[in-house]
Formats: sequence, C-alpha cells, structure tokens
Amino acid sequence: MTKTITKKKNTKEQEAPTVGVVSLGCPKALVDTERILTQLRSEGYQLSPDYENANVVLVNTCGFLDSAKKESLEAIGEAMAANGRVIVTGCMGAEPEQITKEFPKVLAVTGPQQYEAVVNAVHAAAPAPHDPYVDLVPPQGIKLTPRHYAYLKISEGCNNRCTFCIIPKLRGDLVSRPIIQVLSEAERLVKAGVKELLVISQDTSAYGIDTKYQAMPWKNRTIRTKFIDLCREMGELGVWTRLHYVYPYPHVDEVFGLMNEHKILPYIDIPFQHASPAVLKNMRRPAHQEKTLDRIKSWKQQCPDLTIRSTFIVGFPGETEEDFNFLLDWMQEAQLDRVGCFKYEPVTGAPSNDIQPHVPEEVKEERWHRFMQLQQGISKAKLAAKVGKTLPVIIDSVGRDGGIGRTMGDAPEIDGTVKVTGKNLKEGDIVQVKITAADEYDLEGKTVAA
Ligand code: SF4
Repeated sequence: MTKTITKKKNTKEQEAPTVGVVSLGCPKALVDTERILTQLRSEGYQLSPDYENANVVLVNTCGFLDSAKKESLEAIGEAMAANGRVIVTGCMGAEPEQITKEFPKVLAVTGPQQYEAVVNAVHAAAPAPHDPYVDLVPPQGIKLTPRHYAYLKISEGCNNRCTFCIIPKLRGDLVSRPIIQVLSEAERLVKAGVKELLVISQDTSAYGIDTKYQAMPWKNRTIRTKFIDLCREMGELGVWTRLHYVYPYPHVDEVFGLMNEHKILPYIDIPFQHASPAVLKNMRRPAHQEKTLDRIKSWKQQCPDLTIRSTFIVGFPGETEEDFNFLLDWMQEAQLDRVGCFKYEPVTGAPSNDIQPHVPEEVKEERWHRFMQLQQGISKAKLAAKVGKTLPVIIDSVGRDGGIGRTMGDAPEIDGTVKVTGKNLKEGDIVQVKITAADEYDLEGKTVAA
C-alpha cells in the first residue's frame, strides 16, 4: 500500500483543495495513480498527508486475488470512516456493485485506466483551485458551437460493419465514455449557459455495451452506462436534449415515454438508409427488421409530438427498380418528418464497392429526384399542419425585426428553421411562437406571451 505524503508550501497552495490517496496493487496500478496525481497537481490540487484533513480521498484498488479485494475493501472502509468523501478507482472499479453494496455512500467508482473519469469525479467533489493561466479555458472547454447549444459525444468507434462505411476501420470498435464522465460534462455545459445538448456518437443506442453497462454511483443513486439511464439522467438537467444516430434496437422503445413527458426532446434521428430488405442486407445495417413501420406507428402513439429524422442512400450497389419502389412506398407509409437523401458514392476500402451491379449515375440521379419530390410533399403537408399552433422555439440568431430559431423538431444545421418576428429576442432564448406560414422545409411565426 502506498500512502502519499507531501508538505504544504505557501498560502496559495494551502487554499487549494487537498486529496488523500491510497494506491494498492501492482506497479501498473501505481503508474495509474501517478498519472492521476500528476494531472491533479498540475491543476493546483494539494496532496494530503492524512485522510481526516483531505477534501476528498482517492482509493486505487486491486482486484487480482480475493485477498487483494479484501484489502481494497478494508482500505475503502478506513477512508470512509476517517473522511467519508471517497472516490474509488482501479481494478475493483470494473465491478462497482462489489463496492457500492458495502459502501453505498462512495462518491464515485471508476474502472482501471479511466483517468479522465477519476479526475472529473475529483473536480465534482472538490472544485479545482483558480489558476489564472488554466482558467483562460472555460470549464466547459473550447466550443465552436454558439453558446446556447453543444454536442455531447458519448462514445467513439462502432461495433457494426455496414458495408458502405469505413469508420470502424478508422476508429475501431465502440468505446463508451463512462456515464459519470458524460453527465459531468453535460452539467458543466448547462452551468456555462447551454440550453440544448445534442447527444452524438456513431451508434447512440449501443451506448455502454462495450462496458457491459457498467454501473456507477451518481449523486445518491447507482446508474448504468446505458442508453436509457443516460436519457433519464439527462432528462433531469432542465435543458433540451436531442438524440442523434439512434438505431432502433428493441430497448430504444423505452425512451418514447421520456419524450412524451418532454424530459428528452420528442425528436429522434434514426439513419434508416433504406427500406428494402435486400438492400439493407447488402448494406449489413444494424437493427433492421421488417416490423419497422409498425414500430414507427407505436412510437408515434406513445409520443404524438414525435419528430423522426432520417437519412437514406439511393443507388446503392445492387439496388433494383423494385427495391427503389419499395423504398418509395415505405416512405409514403412512414411519413417521416425530416429526411436527408444521398446518392451512393464508393468510398475507398468499403466492402460495398464489390457488390454488383453498380447503379449508373443517371439512374441514381433520377431516383434521387423522385425520392426528394415524394419527401418534399410529405414535409410540406407536415409543416402546413403546424400553421396556427403555438410552439416553443429556441433562438439561434437575432436580426433587426426578429430572429431565426428552431422548434423542438429541428436540429441545428440539418433541419428547418423558424423565421421569428418579435422584439427583444436574444440568442438562446426559448420563446413561444405562433406559426403563421410554412413551406417545404421552414416555418414563420411571431412571438406570443408565454
Ligand atoms: S453504424 Fe454507422 S459508423 Fe457504424 S459501421 Fe454503420 S454506418 Fe459506419
């Protein structure tokens, strides 16, 4: 067991939060502890020579043998008794229930090598001291989006192998960020004034599969690194949460209840890419099944305000006229709200290039126009049905006589906008707008008193 003891140096450092540390186990765990402490020291944290006077205690555990687990649990118990504000990391953190069962009040449990998560947990337990150099960077990091919305990336990579895509080759298999790390970032963004969080990844509904839905303590409860738990917790943040890149695995059905309560925006971005079973098979798309139309109906029953956004590829290798007509019939029935359509383009290294026959460019072009024409009609009718309604609109930019905003059914950059007439609008305001006009893609309206 390594206990860390340093001397306090000057007044500024004495004001800094202190961290007590105990590091158990093998040299790899010791190196992990060193890395965490290096980061914390560089942020101005002090290391505490004892538990009693520390602002928080970090226990890096070992889970190699039963005797090592016992020693780890004893070390956590000692830290809990002496201080009570304890963060647990290391090998035992891979199975957090073993820890939370015995010590339900630990502040956080993270697994081995989850440096960022540990440091975030320390930040949450004892905020970092002010540093005039580091604090040039705001707590939410540097954002390139407007101040009122931000993208929240929950994972990297993808376990699927869609034949037209080389992302798994470039970025590897799915690696989910621990849920407490994602939620801490979401909280920081909300604190910094963000009003809309856009959840992104390559496969949002697969979130946590790679971690076996690792459970972690968060506030006074245990939550899993899992899509539905993430949605529930984000629903408590009091801002708009928008879900992108969701594949319709069966467990996704659970989220529509949260959408109906407006905990999560009633908006879902599902890249269907096609509807013909033969094309979907050639694409090797995840979660495709013949009952998708029935499921769309049931989602809309559960959440009548739901906006479904999707993207499609026309002219995929092997797509026949029959496949394409199947897609058009499906679109007519599905009545999706927001749709993007791309003509297939071969990407170097993608297995789809070997599927034959390739569709001639002029046929792709013609199919693309037919597809867009059909969808424009659907979109126009759907937007026309909003005229006369009063809807909440988030303001993205402000001009002389009003501003440009979006409804809950419109994501920034990819969906439509609302031209809003009204006074004293500010970017990031969410205002009530009576819709007065609509075309194929956009709306117009004027503000009304809330
Ligand atoms: S799910 Fe998306 S990222 Fe993953 S392989 Fe398919 S297209 Fe690529």
